[in-house]
Amino acid sequence: MSNIFGDAKTRLSEVFRRIDLSDDVEQRLAHPRLTLVVNIPLRMDDGSLRVLQGYRVQYNDIRGPTKGGIRFHPDVNADEVTSLAFWMTIKCAIAGLPYGGAKGGVAVDPKTLSKLELERLSRGYIRAIADVIGPDRDIPAPDVYTNSTIMGWMADEYYKIVRKKVPGVITGKPVHLGGSLGRESATGQGALFVLNRWVERHNLKPQNLRVAVQGFGNAGAHFASLANQAGYHIVAVSDSRGAVYAEQNLDPDLLMAQKRENLAISKMMYCNSSVCESAEYRIITNQELLELDVDVLALAALENQVTGQNVDRIQARHILELANGPIDSKSDEVLHQRGITVLPDVLANAGGVTVSYFEWLQNRSGLYWELEEVSRRLKKTMDRESDHVFDLVEELGISLRTAAYLHGVERIVGAIQQQGTREYFSED
Ligand code: GLU
Repeated sequence: MSNIFGDAKTRLSEVFRRIDLSDDVEQRLAHPRLTLVVNIPLRMDDGSLRVLQGYRVQYNDIRGPTKGGIRFHPDVNADEVTSLAFWMTIKCAIAGLPYGGAKGGVAVDPKTLSKLELERLSRGYIRAIADVIGPDRDIPAPDVYTNSTIMGWMADEYYKIVRKKVPGVITGKPVHLGGSLGRESATGQGALFVLNRWVERHNLKPQNLRVAVQGFGNAGAHFASLANQAGYHIVAVSDSRGAVYAEQNLDPDLLMAQKRENLAISKMMYCNSSVCESAEYRIITNQELLELDVDVLALAALENQVTGQNVDRIQARHILELANGPIDSKSDEVLHQRGITVLPDVLANAGGVTVSYFEWLQNRSGLYWELEEVSRRLKKTMDRESDHVFDLVEELGISLRTAAYLHGVERIVGAIQQQGTREYFSED
């Protein structure tokens, strides 16, 4: 039985030690407000029926409607979805968005489904949770192994149920179905803005930094491509089937094009024919990628990738968390002691939900923004919130993660206190 949620909450205890808090706050943040477990009947192409378990957890809605993605993955369970919903609560507060946090998922391996089965599942999931979502209530989005096409089907199913078009019910939709320009690359772009800010502040130069990227899904692939364009050296990338390492740069755009054709990273060509001969690359395991001697390790796969099993062998100087919860709390402490910087998930991957918020604003106003407008506003948000977190680190001598949580929790606490706590109500 996994206990990711218990582990996730230990990150708060350090924050609670540093701020004088009412009991009310600790109690409000200790439990999700709603956990919905659903069983979704799925008609398979061969006529048989499968029943799949799905979840939607709304963690806390004090700052606004709850917000968070939906994942389709065989390991999805209530404990994991609860942690992810908790992280969304903190993340939305850190990014200063008027949202609470939620998450959903279905325990299924989507790679085993046909396209029609996947569409039926997406629609079935929305029918099962339709009563608890809505543009002013709870707003889903993509997450691990879900994408804009799936969001388009889900939004369409919701419109049929409520018999009107309410595109603000789901974000991460395809652009022609009410999505925002720049949403697809937003998580990778946001993480790069955070990394750039950190690099600038420490007088480092992208041209001198070697980067390994674990995970080549939406977040990892866009990050690798954008970081490459910004001058960083991408020397290793992986997907769930394997990894590749090059002394020289890899070409993330070429890899992305090949990945679209559904090739595993370890079966791809890593360079254009013009430079192929000179490029030295080798196939390595995912584990070896994590342990490479690089400047930046970008973790863009799943949770619990750095644990007691491998933390002592991590050699990277800086870790950028694009996935949610890729380092367990004990290993986080070890990395901090070893002086390895961790740019934490709740800040580093907040670009995705920030552009989701922009999509929601556009859906509600009916006015659609140009890509420059989306990018300018995303950069402004990521720079502002990164600076705030980095300042706290310098002022208080705490880790980046504790500083990020402190920043988010302060906003949540403000909201809880303004509704009145024990101290307020027990006054004479
Ligand atoms: N799934 C993404 C995350 O974990 C995006 C959520 C959203 O856009 O609502 O941040």
